[in-house]
Amino acid sequence: HAKAKGRGQICFYSEHMEQRSSDSLQMEIDLRRAISDSELLMFYQPQVDLRTGSCIGAEALLRWQHPKKGLLLPGGFVPLAVDVGLTTAIDNFVIQEVCAQIGQWKDDGFAPGKISINISATTLLIPDFASDLKATADAHGLDLSQLEIEVLESTLFPRMRSSMNTIEELRSLEVTLAIDDFGTGYSSLAMLKDLPIDRIKLDRRFIKSLPHDSKDDRIVAAIIAMGRSLGINVIAEGVETREQRDRLISLGCTEAQGFLFSRPIKAHDFSNGWLKCNRPHAFIGTST
Ligand code: C2E
Ligand code: MG
Ligand code: MG
Ligand code: MG
Repeated sequence: HAKAKGRGQICFYSEHMEQRSSDSLQMEIDLRRAISDSELLMFYQPQVDLRTGSCIGAEALLRWQHPKKGLLLPGGFVPLAVDVGLTTAIDNFVIQEVCAQIGQWKDDGFAPGKISINISATTLLIPDFASDLKATADAHGLDLSQLEIEVLESTLFPRMRSSMNTIEELRSLEVTLAIDDFGTGYSSLAMLKDLPIDRIKLDRRFIKSLPHDSKDDRIVAAIIAMGRSLGINVIAEGVETREQRDRLISLGCTEAQGFLFSRPIKAHDFSNGWLKCNRPHAFIGTST
């Protein structure tokens, strides 16, 4: 019996090996190493107030500096991380890294505005998530109201009830909550009703054809109006042209991010370059 069981296990293992290409197995090994050897890093994409053009904060976006493949975007490794159960390890890395960065900026006398981080809905189910986040923020001397958590609409909805405790705790700590890629998931309205949502991130697929596609234009107008009447900020993602920006302004949208303003950039470029020319008063200390 023991032998049969053993053979079964070996058989299962080899099937599993065959299902996945050796490329993807190598990637998994690489990714585990990347997390422990700090090959992961954050880029920051500035977010602007459309009324004034000034920077109001940034979204932290994950990158992997792969020793052979170069700089990888999350689309090339986050799905694998999810498949092999590394989601929370990545989320923990992002939290540590961003809190350390904001702490460093504070020491440098630089006020970056609100920084948002992408967190998986499954990580919100961890009972100590909010208190661990507070401990990390405290360790780096930052104010929790400087942080926003972005969760994908599509992954938050099925976990709406079970993540409620964490979300309430985050709220009491003054961490804000944003719904990412809004309009691409489902049951958005129930979520807006039941969760304390501060910001909606309007997915770039609705922005792309503005103002030429009249359906997109009407959808965007409706979401902006709805956000307004519910007291929820609406930020447009993926703004690439002045035409899109101008249309958003005339529809009453007040916040945006996109290549028109800046691509995601390194922390150092955010604090020293982009903000210096766009918002000199963000430097509260004397800069050299
Ligand atoms: P997202 O959270 O919706 O992030 C916005 C994505 O749009 C970023 O891609 C950004 O570079 C891109 N983008 C910004 N402006 C423009 C624009 O004007 N035009 C176009 N075409 N694209 C624009 P990125 O960095 O490749 O990230 C892709 C997705 O990967 C993110 O979508 C997010 O869902 C996920 N991701 C990024 N960072 C993290 C992270 O730290 N943790 C987790 N779990 N997921 C992350
Ligand atoms: Mg995001
Ligand atoms: Mg998004
Ligand atoms: Mg997206």
